[in-house]
Amino acid sequence: PQRHLIAANWKMNGLKAALPVAEAIADIARNHTSEVVIFPPATLLAPMQKVLEGSPVKLGGQDCHYMDGGAYTGDISAAQLKDAGASMVILGHSERRHGHLEPCELVARKVRTALRAGLTPIICIGETLDQRKAGKTVDILTKQLKDSLPDELEGQEFHVSYEPVWAIGTGMIASDAQICEAIALVRTWLDNRFPAATPKLLYGGSVKPSNAAHVLKLSGVGGALVGGASLTVDEFAPIIAAGD
Ligand code: 13P
Repeated sequence: PQRHLIAANWKMNGLKAALPVAEAIADIARNHTSEVVIFPPATLLAPMQKVLEGSPVKLGGQDCHYMDGGAYTGDISAAQLKDAGASMVILGHSERRHGHLEPCELVARKVRTALRAGLTPIICIGETLDQRKAGKTVDILTKQLKDSLPDELEGQEFHVSYEPVWAIGTGMIASDAQICEAIALVRTWLDNRFPAATPKLLYGGSVKPSNAAHVLKLSGVGGALVGGASLTVDEFAPIIAAGD
């Protein structure tokens, strides 16, 4: 079986004082089979790269601009992420889609820019609770896939994370059936659209030590994108172990 990808999305959390957490995560990752990636705030990428030197843990950015560089105050480019030690980038997270009103087309531009910079994108998709209640989940996921994943992904390394918006930060994890249905939809769609690619399909949304092993065993789930429970070693260590 494929190695799981266990990703820590620290979101807007973490000061320099959190660097020892990354060091401890690296120690734990050495004893387990999963590929572990930390997505710290951009301010911690460079110092964290130092702390992680020689460890199997990779680093990623949480977002990037759609342009390669230039007059974009307050933004960060894919090349800058790479320069600071990132090898991956999360794109289209719901906190960007909804919090920053990012449409699919913008996510697709960012994906192209990330690929140009040599970063592996993790593209997030997911329906809101209203959309699910209205029976629109399949339509929404299909539209997000169609409009957020550019042609350039064919043959490239990338991953897709299914993160139902209503499961993020709520403690309300999606049911097995909901996860399996969404993952199967994504796999079928990707196999048709990008037959040469071998993306991992992640689940994100209230993954905790108590449910991680179960979620990671569900059919087609290739990893987890973990928010809150990735911030402390106590919670993240058992999630890394759950990927074995
Ligand atoms: P939580 O694990 O805090 O629900 O967040 C999930 C998420 O958004 C990962 O990207």
